[in-house]
Amino acid sequence: MNTETSIQYLPGVGPKRAALLESELGIVTVGDLLHLYPFRYIDRSSIVRIADVQPDLAQVQVRATVQKVRLYAKNGAELPPDKLKYNLVSRLSAIVADESGEMEVVFFKGVKWMHSRLIPGSTFIFFGKPAVFGSHLNMVHPEVDAPDTANTGVLTGIYPSTEKLKNAGITGRTMLKLIGTALEGVLPTLQETLPDYVLKEKGLVPLTFALRQIHFPVDQAALGKASYRLKFEELFLLQLSLLKQKYIRSHNAVGLKMPAVGDAFNACFNALPYELTGAQKRVIREIRADLMSGHQMNRLLQGDVGSGKTMVAVLSALIAVGNGYQACIMAPTEVLAQQHYANVSKYLIPTGVRCALLTGNTGVRERREIHAGLQDGSIGILIGTHALIEDTVQFRALGLAVIDEQHRFGVEQRSRLWNKGWNSVPPHVLVMTATPIPRTLAMTLYGDLDVSVIDEMPPGRKPVTTLCVGESKRHAMHNFIRDEIAKGRQAFIVYPLIFESEKLDYKNLELGYEEIVKAFPLPQYKVAIVHGRQTPQEKAFNMDAFVAGRAHILVSTTVIEVGVDVPNASVMVIESAERFGLSQLHQLRGRVGRGAERSYCILMKGTKVSKESQKRLDLLCATENGFELAEEDLKLRGPGDLEGTMQSGLPISLNIASLAKDGLILNDARAYAQHVLNQDPTLSEQKNAPLAQELQRDKYLTKDFSQIS
Ligand code: ADP
Ligand code: MG
Repeated sequence: MNTETSIQYLPGVGPKRAALLESELGIVTVGDLLHLYPFRYIDRSSIVRIADVQPDLAQVQVRATVQKVRLYAKNGAELPPDKLKYNLVSRLSAIVADESGEMEVVFFKGVKWMHSRLIPGSTFIFFGKPAVFGSHLNMVHPEVDAPDTANTGVLTGIYPSTEKLKNAGITGRTMLKLIGTALEGVLPTLQETLPDYVLKEKGLVPLTFALRQIHFPVDQAALGKASYRLKFEELFLLQLSLLKQKYIRSHNAVGLKMPAVGDAFNACFNALPYELTGAQKRVIREIRADLMSGHQMNRLLQGDVGSGKTMVAVLSALIAVGNGYQACIMAPTEVLAQQHYANVSKYLIPTGVRCALLTGNTGVRERREIHAGLQDGSIGILIGTHALIEDTVQFRALGLAVIDEQHRFGVEQRSRLWNKGWNSVPPHVLVMTATPIPRTLAMTLYGDLDVSVIDEMPPGRKPVTTLCVGESKRHAMHNFIRDEIAKGRQAFIVYPLIFESEKLDYKNLELGYEEIVKAFPLPQYKVAIVHGRQTPQEKAFNMDAFVAGRAHILVSTTVIEVGVDVPNASVMVIESAERFGLSQLHQLRGRVGRGAERSYCILMKGTKVSKESQKRLDLLCATENGFELAEEDLKLRGPGDLEGTMQSGLPISLNIASLAKDGLILNDARAYAQHVLNQDPTLSEQKNAPLAQELQRDKYLTKDFSQIS
């Protein structure tokens, strides 16, 4: 037997269980089983007195003697213990007691088997989650062990399971047995995955020790060492694969050389109405160095909402133009593309660089003109939506592509961009995102990109007061908006639009709009509405009315989420705020606080708000710092859920390490991966052979994120 052996052939499994293990837990080979780690451990060495059992706590075990067993039918009637038909039994209830008190244990399944075991007078270890039912303590479906065979005195692993597995008799106990068998079969010939020198330098325990102890820890210390080794290995190999790809690209991918700053850059820079922030300057220096290097740039620019990323994009584009190339800026939505176009055009006035807007709505004639301008090079900067990566759009010499809010672009779309470079050299790529991503996540999601961070807000950014209120405050909220409008301000009111219940959401939006129009009647008030079901013309008309200040209130779905800039707006009301993710809420809030002396974000919450949602709303009220929020959110929800940061989860799934909890190990693993690669960038030295081999695994090879541009 080895790790590649089909799980079916592990003694105790067979074809039926194998099929279940695969469909329920994705376990195909014996190796997969060994890498299914317990998600927690229970110290079964401690036995609790029944009198001391606290309901609602974690699982406990008690040692108790069976007093009385009763069987009940579906209708609740007690069934006579003699002449029993087990198929009529829906519940078994046993009263068990120790010297301190008694409790009930209940079974709905496996009744016959339990009935035969729970003979009054016999003593067992009952292990499960206690609850209070009526006035007495009970435990539903506890594990029942004879006192002498119970797995006491050690830490017992608890494995992921499902209802189907349990019904098929694959209990925690079965899992332990199977894993025990697998370990005995595999460990003697198991190959170490990390080179000796790595184990030594990092003080890691060998793989065989780690696997044995992660499943059957002899004590807490051994478990600690095992789990550290496995976490380190997981993060280290991932970082190694990311950094290796980055190395290969930065050394092999030829990039267009842009040595000059150029007149256009200088003209724009000198005419800026404000001083760049230190962070903006630093980032532009980083980008400039990339553009001069002769290697293709693949840089992620992170900066909170309002941190001034557009200016960085414009100045970078102007460097490309100044070196005889063209640049494009891609936005995720029509509205945003238009806004970018309006802003960028202003900045370009002193430079004389021609800029054009290309979206799905650009007319045929205009489109033809733009195509011509791109081909003869008279258009220096093209701004647009996805429309600009269509095959018909051909540049004379595209040198830089800026992608705003990258997570909205698919991999395939990015790769089309690659083909628009010059002389088969791909353009430099700058990806901008306002979604604050915790550092550990960024390192993993974008580990193969260079990352620049704008961590400083332009001066003059006004604080936003955030409050979270319920339905009873709706009138007060309306009055508040009236006061703000009286001061000459404007307000956003946003409704959630969540795919699964789209119909319902539109209904809410409609009702909400009607209510707002009633509360803010013409002619005194004008209310605009924007949502995804409008034609682009309707959308643009309503948007323009709000941007130009003709409408006082903009009711919308989340289409305004990114980028829209209306400095005069001072109120952001978010309806059903509990239904938004934290990062989305933060993005929405970023729409205000751009001009008015004081701005407000009002989170309207529904009647049913889960504890977790409430925590999110509280966090938002407590801080305006996007990165702080992201870190907290990661802790709260785990990375798989981090909304807005990614479409489909991590590039590879982590098995044991947690980005939320293992930040320190991650830092160390990344630094060490870099250290290893510095000495042997291609991992071709003999001592690194195990690493090179590990990186051949599918999970490292089929990683889309490496193709980010
Ligand atoms: P984001 O990073 O969200 O895209 P923007 O680029 O839209 O941010 O910038 C937000 C606002 O801040 C814009 O109105 C912009 O003109 C202004 N701005 C950008 N940089 C500075 C700066 N250095 N000083 C003052 N205002 C700035
Ligand atoms: Mg922006």
